[in-house]
Amino acid sequence: MYDIIIVGAGTAGLSAAIYGVRAGKSVLVLEGGTYGGQIINTPAIENYPGIKNISGYEFATNLYEQAKELGAEIQFKKVTGIRSEKDRKLVITEDQEYECRSVILATGAKNKPLGIEHEQELIGAGISYCATCDGAFYRGKDVAVIGGGNTALEDAIFLSAYCRKVYIVHRRDTFRGEERLLNTLKKKENVEFVLHSRVTQLLADDSLHGVILQDMNGENERKLDIKGLFVAIGQIPENLAFSEYVDLDQGGYIVGKEDCKTKADGIFVAGDCRTKTVRQLATAAADGAIAALAACEYIG
Ligand code: NAP
Repeated sequence: MYDIIIVGAGTAGLSAAIYGVRAGKSVLVLEGGTYGGQIINTPAIENYPGIKNISGYEFATNLYEQAKELGAEIQFKKVTGIRSEKDRKLVITEDQEYECRSVILATGAKNKPLGIEHEQELIGAGISYCATCDGAFYRGKDVAVIGGGNTALEDAIFLSAYCRKVYIVHRRDTFRGEERLLNTLKKKENVEFVLHSRVTQLLADDSLHGVILQDMNGENERKLDIKGLFVAIGQIPENLAFSEYVDLDQGGYIVGKEDCKTKADGIFVAGDCRTKTVRQLATAAADGAIAALAACEYIG
């Protein structure tokens, strides 16, 4: 019987693990993919208080090692559901059930696809959701980034150092991403902004060689000859497995306030999978601390 089981080894989950073990609780973290969550793909973090500059991979690895060295158990298994009974909870994976007193859901969110024809089959053959992972394959080539948030802007900056030309395609003419990143991009000679546009068609034989764009009025079309398309249009959460016990909002995020409590006693929520307005590294870490301390208080 663990005191706390944490679902997800991203920034929120691993921060919760650190706070849980330091409060003297037995903690198991279950992760269906790799540790680190979304931040592992960020080339450079410059807005985490106290750390001037660090890569997402190094940040995530430090966090993972810190949690393990402090005594958290981390297993790489996908959680398929939970069951809440009177004095205990069961966390279910594909091959085992784990018993605990409290659960922290820190499932994060995964990359949102464009949802156009041939997108899935071209993943790895021109379509990527991670510029830092795949950018080097496109050295000297022309690529496009889709999106207008921080991820898209950071990806475009990263790619502009390798690629011959980087188009940044966004459906509006104002950006969600930070002004500072936008200003950096505007100074790059090999970056072209294509605004008020969306991708309607992927052109490919064995791999991608172009896209058709349409303006948002549906009036004009433009073809871009590109070898790589980096999709950075946000994330979607995956929380259906827990919907019997916690409420989900329309977007699929687990309903929880800043105290990280859900409607179910002993089930807490932390990080990007929670309903919130600011999804940042710092707020994920903060959620982890809050959820773990709330779980400790619940366990008593
Ligand atoms: P985001 O902020 O949600 O931005 C997604 C972008 O994609 C928006 O510009 C959106 O357009 C566009 N978009 C959404 N659906 C689309 C579709 N179907 N077709 C075309 N465009 C679409 O996502 P994000 O950039 O991944 O960032 C997620 C969170 O992580 C944010 O809070 C962000 O600040 C944070 N983040 C922080 C850092 C950092 O601090 N270093 C780095 C990366 C991400 P509209 O604007 O028109 O809605």
